[in-house]
Amino acid sequence: APFQNADVHELLDSTLLMLSGKIGQQIKVVKDYDRTLPRIPAYPAELNQVWTNLIDNAVSAINGAGGEGTLTVRTALDNERLLVEFRDTGPGVPKEIRGRIFDPFFTTKPVGEGTGLGLDISWRIVVNKHHGTLQVESEPGDTRFQVLLPLTAEEN
Ligand code: ADP
Ligand code: MG
Repeated sequence: APFQNADVHELLDSTLLMLSGKIGQQIKVVKDYDRTLPRIPAYPAELNQVWTNLIDNAVSAINGAGGEGTLTVRTALDNERLLVEFRDTGPGVPKEIRGRIFDPFFTTKPVGEGTGLGLDISWRIVVNKHHGTLQVESEPGDTRFQVLLPLTAEEN
């Protein structure tokens, strides 16, 4: 299937709306969008899957630490690429596991709560299918998962 001309903000808004029940009232959601960004060539349903995984992880992290916190979704232009950043105020990703969180089936969640596939799938969608990058920066209270996507088509 070919890339579509995707409006990243529209996709983010629909995913946030879909997850609003799960996000709940205790978590503040801040949208920090650069609305001047162009549409990009992408597979919209797959990007929604990435947003879902990253928001789900952020919400779990905040909830695991008492349930009050902020999720900030930011878009920006970064070196000719479109940045989508999910930032949470949860406890962070411990250094010892940072090299493994993108591995399939790696999870720190109790059995039945996490499959350990969210970041693996997100990696494949962003890196393999969209020729983008997915990176994490984390310290306690400030974790950022950053998706960088090309502005122009580099289709398989
Ligand atoms: P799952 O959510 O099923 O555990 P993922 O692949 O989505 O699987 O994430 C793997 C692991 O990465 C999580 O179990 C957790 O330890 C860590 N992780 C992911 N996102 C965050 C986050 N925002 N804050 C802290 N840890 C995270
Ligand atoms: Mg997950």
